[in-house]
Amino acid sequence: MDEFELITRCFAPLGTDARDVVLGIGDDAAVLAVPPGHTLAVAVDTLVNGVHFPADIAPADLGYRVAAVNLSDLAAMGAEPRWATLALTLPAAEPAWVETFAGGLADACAPHGVALVGGDTTRGPLCVTVQLMGLLERAPLTRAGAQAGDVVLVSGSLGDARAALDCLDAAVTGRANDDVTALRARYFRPAARVALGRALAPLAHAAIDVSDGLLADLGHLAQASNVAITVRLDQLPLSAALVRHCAREQALEYAASGGDDYELALCVPRSACAAARAAAARLGVPLTAIGEVTAGRGVRCLDADGAERRFAAGGYRHF
Ligand code: ADP
Ligand code: MG
Repeated sequence: MDEFELITRCFAPLGTDARDVVLGIGDDAAVLAVPPGHTLAVAVDTLVNGVHFPADIAPADLGYRVAAVNLSDLAAMGAEPRWATLALTLPAAEPAWVETFAGGLADACAPHGVALVGGDTTRGPLCVTVQLMGLLERAPLTRAGAQAGDVVLVSGSLGDARAALDCLDAAVTGRANDDVTALRARYFRPAARVALGRALAPLAHAAIDVSDGLLADLGHLAQASNVAITVRLDQLPLSAALVRHCAREQALEYAASGGDDYELALCVPRSACAAARAAAARLGVPLTAIGEVTAGRGVRCLDADGAERRFAAGGYRHF
């Protein structure tokens, strides 16, 4: 099967006949209709074999994950995801592998009505890049804009994906209990908080998605907003699976500095917190106050006694 047959068989079905796709897969470029009065939000993320995912990842999980990490970036902007492109570098054209990969990609995109509108397919070491495009009908929610007095809220729970990394080897997989299965699902099938981002965009001053680790990502937000952030370690939301799986200290460390959670951290004025909670409750997403914004710079993490806690440098750095 050559590259064109692969594209037609595996990827063309992920296009949709949505009216905002003027031209999808098959021509030299895709043509998209941005409705009047909207702006375009664009995010791109690359996943490299052995760096961003284990070499033995299931192709369906890889397809899901590369879309989900980009959906999460759009969620943090309050954008409505619409279109994706895919750059795929493969060591070999194995139709079964590509088909399963495409299935995972579809699992992530279809619930959001995202159409795959183009891409590029090349031979080389396994590497996947997805670009996600979405619409904004109002000002974007950005990392800048947090103000002293804001409450820091975080969606869902933190630390599961980091704990899952401890459970990847075959020995653990072989005796996986329900908790391990739940933790692994958080790593391999992260749920981008798209609806929450859109619902909270009118209420929040600033937001970021938690990809590098909570403290590292709040550091980016604090810098962009030119504020300081205090995080209360004992307030961090932990899943029941994580609490059962490891000691509390370990769970809190994973929640504070582990990456790959793809939750949203938002700075919301105190007066809007009740509305934010109500909006999250309508979506069935937990939303927890974990700290506050003050004047100054940097991120501090305090334990229940008010003592400052430091964790090994959070956040993955490529260079
Ligand atoms: P060109 O040589 O003009 O760049 P390609 O042969 O790279 O064209 O691609 C042919 C068509 O297939 C284009 O519309 C392109 O967007 C699409 N395409 C290629 N690879 C992928 C992919 N992995 N996923 C989705 N669409 C793809
Ligand atoms: Mg090309």
